[in-house]
Amino acid sequence: MQKNCLKCETPFETKSNLKFYCSRGCRETFNKQSKCVICGKEVKVKGFTTKLCSEICKNKLYLKMYPPRSEKECNYCNQVRKYTDFRIVKPNKKGKNKGKIAGWRTTNNDHRASRCLACEKKEFEGRYAKNPFPQMVSNAKRRSKADGRIFNITTKYIKSIFPKDSRCPVLGVKFDMSLKKGGTQKHSPTLDKIIPEKGYVEGNLIIVSWIVNRVKGDVNYEEMEKILKYYLKNKKETKNFYNKKDFIS
Ligand SMILES: [Zn+2]
Ligand SMILES: [Zn+2]
Ligand SMILES: [Zn+2]
Repeated sequence: MQKNCLKCETPFETKSNLKFYCSRGCRETFNKQSKCVICGKEVKVKGFTTKLCSEICKNKLYLKMYPPRSEKECNYCNQVRKYTDFRIVKPNKKGKNKGKIAGWRTTNNDHRASRCLACEKKEFEGRYAKNPFPQMVSNAKRRSKADGRIFNITTKYIKSIFPKDSRCPVLGVKFDMSLKKGGTQKHSPTLDKIIPEKGYVEGNLIIVSWIVNRVKGDVNYEEMEKILKYYLKNKKETKNFYNKKDFIS
């Protein structure tokens, strides 16, 4: 990135976040004086640290050294991308870094991640394919919050009930762990609550394809049977829409 030397204001190119001066000469002469580098007020700090009188001047220096950018090179794919191609980073909510924001400042007046969205997605997909369980748990948690039902399961438990052959027990197809186009697939593994009202608790869960889960929804067995009966009857009545092979059963 390009910066302006704190001492002589000459633009210079650097990859270091900690380099503020164009040359050693500039650094030494500037640091030897005891004035705040921003406002010129006398400060008592000794040695070769950058002299700053206050938090305000520190922030001003920060702004000067890291002006907001509209684009940045992604740290992973090394492509220069517009700020909108990066995820917004929010200030830390807790811990000793509370209120601090990581990431780089954009001309849109927010902070963004150092890795582009495409690279983050790729990484997430790779992780999911190897280990879909944390994602299944967090999806279930989100749904249980939305419908107010009990949630009391761990990733470890999900792993223990995952079909050993990695196939949907209802349809017999292999589970799809690809997350193509970023979303759940027809045969992605999902958690089905056997009795929906009982929530996500041990003993009340099986792992089935997303499509099975969707079709089953919140219906009970009676309703499920009615649905099947109705569609089979309907199939006979509308048989001109079907191929012959659809009737082999
Ligand atoms: Zn200089
Ligand atoms: Zn100052
Ligand atoms: Zn990238």
